[in-house]
Amino acid sequence: MNKIQQYLLDHQDEMIALTKQLVNIDSPSYHLAGIQQIMRILESRMNALGMTTYQLESGKPGTVLVGQLAGKESGAPVILSGHIDTVFPVGTAQQRPFKIAGDKMTGPGIFDMKPGIVIGLYAIQALKHFDLIERPLKVIIVSDEEKLHLASNAAQLIAQEAQGGAYGLNLEGTTATNTVGTSNRGGMIIDLTVHGRAAHSGSEPEKGRDAVVELAHKIIQLTALTNLQEGIHVNCGRITGGISENIIPDQATTSLGIRFRTLTQRDQLLQQIRQIAHQHVIPETTTDITIRTQIDSLEATATVQQLFANLDRAAKELGISPLIAANDRGSSDAGVLYAQGVPCIDGLGVVGGAAHTDQEFASVHSLVKRAALIATLICTKDA
Ligand SMILES: [Zn+2]
Repeated sequence: MNKIQQYLLDHQDEMIALTKQLVNIDSPSYHLAGIQQIMRILESRMNALGMTTYQLESGKPGTVLVGQLAGKESGAPVILSGHIDTVFPVGTAQQRPFKIAGDKMTGPGIFDMKPGIVIGLYAIQALKHFDLIERPLKVIIVSDEEKLHLASNAAQLIAQEAQGGAYGLNLEGTTATNTVGTSNRGGMIIDLTVHGRAAHSGSEPEKGRDAVVELAHKIIQLTALTNLQEGIHVNCGRITGGISENIIPDQATTSLGIRFRTLTQRDQLLQQIRQIAHQHVIPETTTDITIRTQIDSLEATATVQQLFANLDRAAKELGISPLIAANDRGSSDAGVLYAQGVPCIDGLGVVGGAAHTDQEFASVHSLVKRAALIATLICTKDA
């Protein structure tokens, strides 16, 4: 055990108390009252650590909280990122509030990912206590990650704030103490709308241009883009179109849920989807595309591998080496950082499971272990 871990162990009860406080405030995406309440708590915690803070409106509604701490040296900051929103509606915290039994904590957002924020802040507090902050630090916290920043500015704000970062540590949870994420699949939601021409299907069907039939052809082509081995999945998860049995439908829409492994795949998919949109089986129909949201993938490239190697050295010091890199995790904001050229490791938050269910749980001991891992990495000279 190094001195950082000992310090954090001495503060474990405080970490649990802050976790409890955050979990017991409902903060589903867009629930501004809960979001603001949590952001105020976190902002005052950051200020108490000597950080300068500001909040940016991300719309929809929501906020992005940014905290900065100067290091002894100037230069590129280390970025810690996370989200405070959960998938649970208002009232959930009252129904099943924070509970602790042995090593197990439960409550809404206990794994995804409120304790991750606690872990990040206490890692900074430990570093500050031992006067070990060499590089500047920056914390970025958002409130609509669970909605993939749909129709908000949060992803752009993260990208803007992350620019020029030395490296990023995303505080989502993970399944085991020695497991972190070095690659995540990215995702997009795209609406594809076919416009045709309405006509009476009984008296003059020849005048109609059937948007539903055109969309049906396209759906076959779109889902054929799926290549599970390559990590590509295109899901036509929702379709709407037409208004009546005796009208040739003049409009039909599908909402596509898309997952990919690399930014190259993302670009290729976009090109293929545009191609499918613009080739028609039913003449005189037209199709337009709206990208409703896009989360970039995190790829285990050389810079990410180097960061992983440095993290593994820190893990060795704490007796939790070798670290295991979990691949193909779900989308997260780690991809947004990575797309800005900031190498990033994901899954540095609490250890637990059953995200997005009422069985969600997390390990008490992982609070200290994960905070110690992060702090030890940050204060270790780069290899
Ligand atoms: Zn999450």
